[in-house]
Amino acid sequence: MRAYVIHGPQDLRLDDVPERDLGPREVRLALVYGGICGSDLHYVAEGRAGNSVLRDPMVLGHELSGRVVEAGSAVTDLAPGTPVAVNPALSCGACRMCRAGRTNLCFSMRYMGSAAYRPHTEGGFAERPVVDRDQCVILADDADLARAALAEPYSIAAHAVNRAGVAGARVLITGGGTIGALSAIAALRAGAARVTVADIQSGARERVAKLAGVDVLDAGNDDAIAALAADPAFDVAIEAAGAAAALNMAMSCVEPGARVVQVGFLPTSGIDLNLLITREIELLGSYRFVDEFDAAVAAVLADDRLAAAITGRHAFADAEAAFASAADKTRHLKVMIGADAARR
Ligand SMILES: [Zn+2]
Ligand SMILES: [Zn+2]
Repeated sequence: MRAYVIHGPQDLRLDDVPERDLGPREVRLALVYGGICGSDLHYVAEGRAGNSVLRDPMVLGHELSGRVVEAGSAVTDLAPGTPVAVNPALSCGACRMCRAGRTNLCFSMRYMGSAAYRPHTEGGFAERPVVDRDQCVILADDADLARAALAEPYSIAAHAVNRAGVAGARVLITGGGTIGALSAIAALRAGAARVTVADIQSGARERVAKLAGVDVLDAGNDDAIAALAADPAFDVAIEAAGAAAALNMAMSCVEPGARVVQVGFLPTSGIDLNLLITREIELLGSYRFVDEFDAAVAAVLADDRLAAAITGRHAFADAEAAFASAADKTRHLKVMIGADAARR
């Protein structure tokens, strides 16, 4: 079968890879949609995503929906053809983080399409990916499988919102890309009083204002940021841009003592952490998700604002064009590849 294999920086190939036998608890799927993530783009551009460095060729992809082709001997509830959303996280269930319920911090996490550990965990951008039964969320037969492939990025956003605590709060989100836009909607769904998205790009601001119906702020407007630093107008911030300036801005625009949740991977320099001290900011990391996935599937299937984050679709064979679209942040949020995408 064909699969999107990343061999190194700037070396993504549509390779023919062998199919393997199923374990008793495993399921072979026909991929229907796969969403291209920022981390996929980083693996392609730089051969790494955050601190996960590619050391061997790896199949990309962790935002997936599909239909069951065949199931292992111990799987009794997945008939061929059943549509599923795929939770890409497979935690060990036994380590002390898993036992404490913080499965996203599992010491031996296997997360599809991730080079965090070696051997790397193969991803799902393959014609027939194999997953564990426990990773499949069964969908209705008429479910929109493009939407279902949004469940993973929406889970990331929902986890950041859960870490932040937004009910009744004035929420600042820095970065109007996919995670920022999905976080804005997640914050509204979680009862935020007001959501403002800051971005330096006017196109991103316009898009998120239209998509999520939120206020926007020009992160490049130094006077506006200085006024907010002097008189903070937010109770909590979610930093989804992964930029030092955005984190500095988030810390300066929230009320003293407020919480700032970092969900975008940051560069290692340019960050001014002194506001942590003088304003007693609580800076929290947010990594992947814990138990948000099932609710995320329901949300993406039901909420048209979330579905509107899908801005491009390419056939599975169009790897190069699909990744070029996904990298074009001025035009796209979430780009999907799919076996049947060309027909839609
Ligand atoms: Zn992702
Ligand atoms: Zn574990």
